[in-house]
Amino acid sequence: MDEFETIARLFVPLARGEPGAFGLGDDAALLTPRPGFDLVLTKDAIVGGVHFFPDDPPAAIGAKLMRVNLSDLAAKGASPRAFLLAAAIPPTVDEAWLAGFAAGIGADLDEFGGALVGGDTVSTPGPAVFSLTAIGEVPTGTMIRRAGARPGDLVCVSGTIGDAALYVAHRLRGVAVAGLDHLEERYRYPRPRLALGAALRGLARAGCDVSDGLVADLGHLCEQSGLGAVIEAGAVPLSPAARATLERAPGLLATILTGGDDYELVFALPPEADPAALTDVSVIGRFEQGQGVRVLDRAGSPLELDRTGWRHPVGRGEDAR
Ligand code: ADP
Ligand code: MG
Repeated sequence: MDEFETIARLFVPLARGEPGAFGLGDDAALLTPRPGFDLVLTKDAIVGGVHFFPDDPPAAIGAKLMRVNLSDLAAKGASPRAFLLAAAIPPTVDEAWLAGFAAGIGADLDEFGGALVGGDTVSTPGPAVFSLTAIGEVPTGTMIRRAGARPGDLVCVSGTIGDAALYVAHRLRGVAVAGLDHLEERYRYPRPRLALGAALRGLARAGCDVSDGLVADLGHLCEQSGLGAVIEAGAVPLSPAARATLERAPGLLATILTGGDDYELVFALPPEADPAALTDVSVIGRFEQGQGVRVLDRAGSPLELDRTGWRHPVGRGEDAR
């Protein structure tokens, strides 16, 4: 595979005619911020065997890379504008695989907006690593931060929680699940909450996306806001598949609440706000003075969870799960 031919064939079309990408023919791209907007910058990388299963369809891996980044933009209230891709490609990856991967990125550019304006392509003995920098924009001064929640604010979450974590538990630990197709779809094709994020500008006091697990990511909001939070496990929104799985094995509640890969949004709304006016949003608790996240069962008793979400150990070449 020739690097320059590959770039020309697979990646140049993803520049989508964005003038500042210069057809991926220059050393760097040029981006002029629109007057009245801030640029929001984020990066997420995915590693074969750690963040995706190597036998996942390549288009799904391209989509996943896009969506983990789009989810961060959504959490900040930003709209996608441009992307930079670093691809470290092992000998096991052939041109057909890479074409599928690029097609997955292209489909998401069409659906969610923005253009691929540059990147780098290198060889590696393995595993495959793909790193994407996403650049979004928000009206000046409106980026939603992790800091800013106040005591008494509502803890809100979008969509459903735990589907992807149940899929991973099934794949890695053989856990029996209901509705496997739904769980797999949620794992492979998370839905970045861009419209909700935009609607939350000027409304949410704080927010982040749920990538490391609900309890851990809510913990990040608490830490940055200098607060604690209390949530009710029974109020956490579940898909029918997750609900059926949990009914058969109640011990999976910890997996649902602390597993990762949801790519939903968790955010703080002032108590006087009307969460019902937002689509697909559930209130699961409140921010409070103190620190840390308390989880209560239906009877109001505290639940002990064995994990507060994935932490990726740094400097270990093995599966961080
Ligand atoms: P350099 O010599 O600076 O490393 P390259 O020859 O790697 O430049 O890249 C040439 C052009 O192709 C640049 O515009 C670069 O941004 C783009 N490019 C290279 N790899 C990718 C990629 N994986 N995705 C998008 N653009 C890429
Ligand atoms: Mg290069």
